[in-house]
Formats: sequence, structure tokens, C-alpha cells
Amino acid sequence: MLSYKDIIKENHEDLRKRCVEISLPLSKEDEATLLLMDEYLENGYDDDKVKKYNIRPGVGLAAPQIDVLKKMFVILGYDEQGTLHHYGVINPKILRYSEELTYLESGEGCLSVDRTVEGYVHRPRRIQVEFDSYDFTTRKTKRITLKLKNYMAIVFQHEYDHLFGRLFMDRINQQNPFYVPANSFPVQFKE
Ligand code: ZN
Repeated sequence: MLSYKDIIKENHEDLRKRCVEISLPLSKEDEATLLLMDEYLENGYDDDKVKKYNIRPGVGLAAPQIDVLKKMFVILGYDEQGTLHHYGVINPKILRYSEELTYLESGEGCLSVDRTVEGYVHRPRRIQVEFDSYDFTTRKTKRITLKLKNYMAIVFQHEYDHLFGRLFMDRINQQNPFYVPANSFPVQFKE
């Protein structure tokens, strides 16, 4: 089982490396890594486990964050409408980006960044993605395409960046961290 200390932090050089493609069918080792990451995120929704196993909750975790330099990540989170998104993502590609951008008014956070970083991260508001999707219930993998928007588009792109050694701070305007371009709109969460 993973705890927060198993997640490598921003000063670790491996977080800046590019990950390699995963060969399919999925090996037992790669499947075990996906399940381990998924378990960490699941545990983050359980207050007792958060305390007991020292977990900092998150909505996404990429393999390089546990020092496995392979193209996979897990997303487990609710969008701004309250709908659950649960994906085991292998070898993702972003096929299309919108011109329109979006951002979180609270800024982004990352399990590998143990401090608050001030500033907005603007990302395409709508994306079309393709990946080998691992189903945690059937334990089967199939190539799918998906359209994501707003909050989930942000989460997906944040995790995707990890596979190329990029962290969210890299995308904050250094001169003017709270700059908002005319084509960027904040994610509106339902009250
Ligand atoms: Zn992150």
C-alpha cells in the first residue's frame, strides 16, 4: 500500500524525465502499479484510511510520481457537476484541443508539490483524448477515445504532463501569475 511518503516530490530528478510507452497486453507488473495507484486515490476518500495510512488525498496520480517512468496514470474524481470519473489511463494521446482555455480559481495542486504555488494554470477547455483504458472492475484493457471538458480536461492534462516531465508550475506566467487571457474561463463548481 502506498502512503504520501512513497510519492516522489518536485526536487526529484525523475519527475523531469519522459516516460516510455507501455507494451500491451498489460504485464502483471504494470497492472500491479495501476492497482497500487488506484488504491491510493481510493483511500483518499476514506477519512479513517487517510489518518491511518498517512494519505494526502488527490484526484489523479501518474506512474512517474511513484518513480515508475511509464506512460500511465489513474484519475478518480468528481467533475464540477458532481459526476464521478474513474480512469486507468495507458499510453494516452491528446488528439484535439480547443482554442478556448480554462483554469481553476484556486490554482492547481499536485501530490508531488508539497507547498502552495500561487498563480493560474490555463489549459485548453475541451480536449479529445485516446488511450488504452484499464477497467478496474473487469480488469480488461481497450483503446478508447473520450471528450473531456472543464475540470476533467484540467485533471487529464495535469496527469498527461507528468508523463513528459512537466509540472503545473511550468505553465504559470512568471511575470504575472494571475494573468487571465481573454479566451480563458474559470471552472464553475456547483454549490
Ligand atoms: Zn501532479
